[in-house]
Amino acid sequence: MLIDPWTYRRMAYLFLAFPLALTYFVLIVTGLAVGVGLSFIGVGLAILALTMMGWLLLARFERELAIHLLGARIRPLSVPDAEPMKPWPRLLKTLGEPVTWKSLAYLLIEFPFGIFSFTVVLVLFSLSLSLVLTPLAYLAYLAVPALRPHVIFDIGPGFNVDHPFGIAFLLVVLTGIVGVGLAVASAALFNGMGWLWGRFAEQMLGVEESKLQLAAAKAEVRAQQGRAERADQSRRELIVNASHELRTPVASISAHVESLLKPERQLDDETRRYLTVVEAETERLSSLVDDLLVLARADADELRLNIRSVDATEVIANVCDALAPLARQERNLSLVHTSARGLPRVMADPDRLAQVLANLIRNALNSTPEGGLVSVAAEAAANEVMISVSDTGIGIEPEDLPRICDRFYRTDESRARISGGSGLGLAIVRDLVTAMGARIDADSTPGRGSTFRIWLRREVPS
Ligand code: ADP
Repeated sequence: MLIDPWTYRRMAYLFLAFPLALTYFVLIVTGLAVGVGLSFIGVGLAILALTMMGWLLLARFERELAIHLLGARIRPLSVPDAEPMKPWPRLLKTLGEPVTWKSLAYLLIEFPFGIFSFTVVLVLFSLSLSLVLTPLAYLAYLAVPALRPHVIFDIGPGFNVDHPFGIAFLLVVLTGIVGVGLAVASAALFNGMGWLWGRFAEQMLGVEESKLQLAAAKAEVRAQQGRAERADQSRRELIVNASHELRTPVASISAHVESLLKPERQLDDETRRYLTVVEAETERLSSLVDDLLVLARADADELRLNIRSVDATEVIANVCDALAPLARQERNLSLVHTSARGLPRVMADPDRLAQVLANLIRNALNSTPEGGLVSVAAEAAANEVMISVSDTGIGIEPEDLPRICDRFYRTDESRARISGGSGLGLAIVRDLVTAMGARIDADSTPGRGSTFRIWLRREVPS
């Protein structure tokens, strides 16, 4: 007990508790009293807030003392904020924390405890010290004659204090032993008091375990989210880069096949047939890579759109003109377009809008039997302009309709066609439409035809 360093640390704390607690008491009570007294003017509230910050600082100091002098294991006084907070919300949050008020109670209760511990330590320490020192004082008394008084108390035989081994000597030795016993008992008492106060500090100066666990769990979730987002981002970038890199070799194959297939080349029929297949598949591969690149860029938020005021009628006319030969010569279909008079301009990226319309019209042409009609119309709606692409084709089954814009989703009819698309066309349409701040919907009657509508934002007059 007497050689345990914690005994002395705890004793030091019990000694210090009184002057420290007195200082806290004076500071806090003065701060609170002045703050409350002046609370009707703003400065009073500021003083109250300052007092609170002050007592939280003192509590932090006390927590350190309790850890280093009492051996207490105390949880942190506050849980770190997930994100930086402004002063006012932080103040409200601090006011709502139970530990704020528990630490105030701790600092105030420390005052009476300090008086008590200081008194007990002082009395027991000086008493044991004086008792332990008695034999030393007696030896000094025997060794140095000058210390002896002139009047000798000769109470009886053997009780002569000058006699080294008389009853007086025995009494002195006994006193020393009692002193050591008292010192050991006091040390145990100080240790116990310090230990108990340390337990009290653990309860009053640390946040609740559940809050700490919650904060740790939240931090873990945030870290995992961050990791997942980074992994997702690098996956997207990989797809963007891979699709981009694929374009060059695909373009090169395409160019070489094209030059091999030039009419002036002497090729046997079989070679020419094989090369024609390679050419068609390379074209498919090229458009698949292009589609993937658009989707990957949309995912990685790298779709750079040039959204501005656009004349939708003009874009529709250009796209229809470009696709007219495909409709008429290859599919024997009528492709017509109409626009309402005085159609408002829309906010869109003209190239992307053309890509969207081309995708929708191509789908309509592919899904419409010979002799059918594909019509594109534009009209003004409330705050939007609606462009519809309708066909008199095979239509879409109701169970396919909600999934028609999913990536790689193809209807059974489309899968049955050998040279069907990849199922990315409408996914791209939806991504581009969304990126332009527009929306898309569709309805269809199987066997009768389908209508896809895109709703573009009208130009906002400046
Ligand atoms: P793809 O590139 O294969 O055409 P899309 O994403 O453009 O893929 O279309 C998805 C599915 O919807 C395809 O199976 C296609 O056949 C079908 N589809 C798209 N437009 C129409 C339409 N106008 N009429 C009937 N089916 C359509």
